[in-house]
Amino acid sequence: MRGLVIVYTGNGKGKTTAALGQAIRAVGSGLKVLILQFIKGGQRYGELETLEILKNAGLTAEIRQCGLGFTSRGEKENHKAAAAETLKIAREEILSGKFDMIILDEINYAVKFGLLTEDEMLDLVKIRPPELHLILTGRDASEKLIEIADLVTEMKAVKHPFEKGIKAQKGIEF
Ligand code: ATP
Ligand code: MG
Repeated sequence: MRGLVIVYTGNGKGKTTAALGQAIRAVGSGLKVLILQFIKGGQRYGELETLEILKNAGLTAEIRQCGLGFTSRGEKENHKAAAAETLKIAREEILSGKFDMIILDEINYAVKFGLLTEDEMLDLVKIRPPELHLILTGRDASEKLIEIADLVTEMKAVKHPFEKGIKAQKGIEF
């Protein structure tokens, strides 16, 4: 198996859900999948429940929320510490050989917001065993990441319900 470096970026909706869709396909094909969420923490997303069901069914499908939630809330230093801890876990799991696919959700945003350095993020790509699929999501992916990735898709916002004042809907946003 040839591991791919996949990036979902851009300002349109669909980056995290694309990664989750990829995870669903991979798990069904027998791959072991880990999703590590930078930034996100505490919020109950539907995908947490679904992954829990898959895990209880004996499949290797795991999601861990390692962030503190919205970056607009709380001290940046605390967000930085959480990101550093998530980075450490990512490193360990990438090197562990326990997974066939690892998704680093919102990592691009963590770099953009200054919680991680670009080099720390790029290093995760570099240390990855060649058979591991690594998926990185979030707006504003760095140029260097785009350069070394095998697959990059940019979600383009054409319309979003927020613009019409429609609030987040269950099953669509959470
Ligand atoms: P999703 O998790 O639904 O796949 P995403 O990962 O592409 O979305 P993020 O950049 O992680 O999007 O942003 C998270 C939230 O911001 C989502 O609730 C999403 O609907 C919202 N969002 C994304 N694009 C826009 C936009 N163009 N205008 C307003 N809100 C947006
Ligand atoms: Mg997202």
